[in-house]
Amino acid sequence: MKIIDAHTHIDYITPIFQKDVVGAVCCATQESDWPKILDLMKVDNHIYGAFGIHPWFVEDVNDDFDKKLKQLLQSNSNYMVGEIGVDKYKPDMEKQMDIFIKQFELAIILKRIVCLHCVGAWDKILRVLKQYNKENLPPIIVHGFNENEQIMTQLLQYKNVFFSLNKNSVYGKNCRIEQIPQNNILIETDGKPDAILSELIDVIAKRKNKSNLPEIIYNNMQRVLNNE
Ligand SMILES: [Zn+2]
Repeated sequence: MKIIDAHTHIDYITPIFQKDVVGAVCCATQESDWPKILDLMKVDNHIYGAFGIHPWFVEDVNDDFDKKLKQLLQSNSNYMVGEIGVDKYKPDMEKQMDIFIKQFELAIILKRIVCLHCVGAWDKILRVLKQYNKENLPPIIVHGFNENEQIMTQLLQYKNVFFSLNKNSVYGKNCRIEQIPQNNILIETDGKPDAILSELIDVIAKRKNKSNLPEIIYNNMQRVLNNE
């Protein structure tokens, strides 16, 4: 089995720690992560770097962060944008939205994969998505997808949206894994050492009754990375 972790962080680099994992998307949460991820990518070519400001960290963001982010993204056409988004349970929604939109627009202009974080604010995210031409939207990795079928259906009108499942999605009650189209599923640790990806994939394969699901999930991630 070959697995790519669709969402982890600098403190838990999956290919080093887990069997079968051959690559990982390493998401920044704040500006101080950016140089650390760049250093890691220099020594490990299985790491795909995503750069941005996480909604939990918008308070101490520098005014010129978007200028710096743009420069960094322009230095390598493979760099992704993430982890960006909104979180209803964290302070300053207005600032969260402002920072999210700035970064999302950079991703559109520069045609970059987006690693999206959304908790309790899908109405806001869907309103933003509607403002753009569907054809211009980059691939979006919805991290830790754990929502009902209604939200899934609304997101599926965008052909480039992928649902990255973590431990909570697989073992929780919200997410109707049986309903998610197999070609839109990815898998992630979210930097949690107790999320063993091969086990999570096994559970999903059983629930969907698809023995070749490991290959499908791997190929889905290749499609995201190659922007096909
Ligand atoms: Zn994360």
